[in-house]
Amino acid sequence: MEKLLRYLKYQKALGIKEVIVPWSEKELKNKMQKTSSVIASATKQSNMAPSVIASAAKQSHRGSDETATGSRKNPRDDKAFAKDPVSHKRINTQNLPEDLKKCESLVSQCFNCALHKGRTQTVFGTGNTKAELMFVGEGPGRDEDLKGEPFVGRAGKLLTKIIQAMGLERKDVYICNIVKCRPPNNRAPLPKEEEECTPYLLKQIELIKPKIVVALGTSAAQFLLKSDAPISHIRGKFFDFHGSKLLPTFHPAYLLRNPNMKRPVWEDMQLVMKELKK
Ligand code: SF4
Repeated sequence: MEKLLRYLKYQKALGIKEVIVPWSEKELKNKMQKTSSVIASATKQSNMAPSVIASAAKQSHRGSDETATGSRKNPRDDKAFAKDPVSHKRINTQNLPEDLKKCESLVSQCFNCALHKGRTQTVFGTGNTKAELMFVGEGPGRDEDLKGEPFVGRAGKLLTKIIQAMGLERKDVYICNIVKCRPPNNRAPLPKEEEECTPYLLKQIELIKPKIVVALGTSAAQFLLKSDAPISHIRGKFFDFHGSKLLPTFHPAYLLRNPNMKRPVWEDMQLVMKELKK
């Protein structure tokens, strides 16, 4: 500020009429006095060094200075900032807590992939946290996103019937998805999104320790098995998976469109029941 004042006097001495500073000398002096008094009072009220406060004051002045000189801030910058505040820091999924509740809380604050943009809420998983049987789908749909619970729409109701036909209740098993946020327009999750979210699922499996994991549908089965084999080739077979046995079968949504495929799914569930009894 002092430098600016000197420069102003220098311009005046040289007889330069067109002053490039947007204030008169008087306004400038007033501003200087105001700034000094703000710094003095802030120094009094805090333990910060006057130099730190002076630098903060300089920063806070920048916006109004720019406006005064005609270089207006882009209002879209403010919007973008509001949408993407500092809290959107990345969650380190390599070191997740050994506790499902804590994992769930981390997931609810997760912005690690673009799917966070379209979610109403995250859908972590529900059911028995000591279940021997776990069902894994690919991702939440509209109903799940609204309710925060996996498999609650039409396909979910069919899954409930399948579970009951096995002599179990939903509360006896654990149900979740690979991705915890709803993909836009119910599309399948992209491989990158699945990769980002998988550590949460692997932690769920590690903590729950199910005897059997049933992968529901092509997307879930192919991603978990790192295979591009058609679901019709891999369904009804057990594969080793992170200490559990994984069995792929058709997705309940597929069964709603193809009721004749209910029989093969029932055959797969009979294999699961047999394995659970061992
Ligand atoms: S889908 Fe998974 S990784 Fe992506 S934002 Fe949601 S919780 Fe995070």
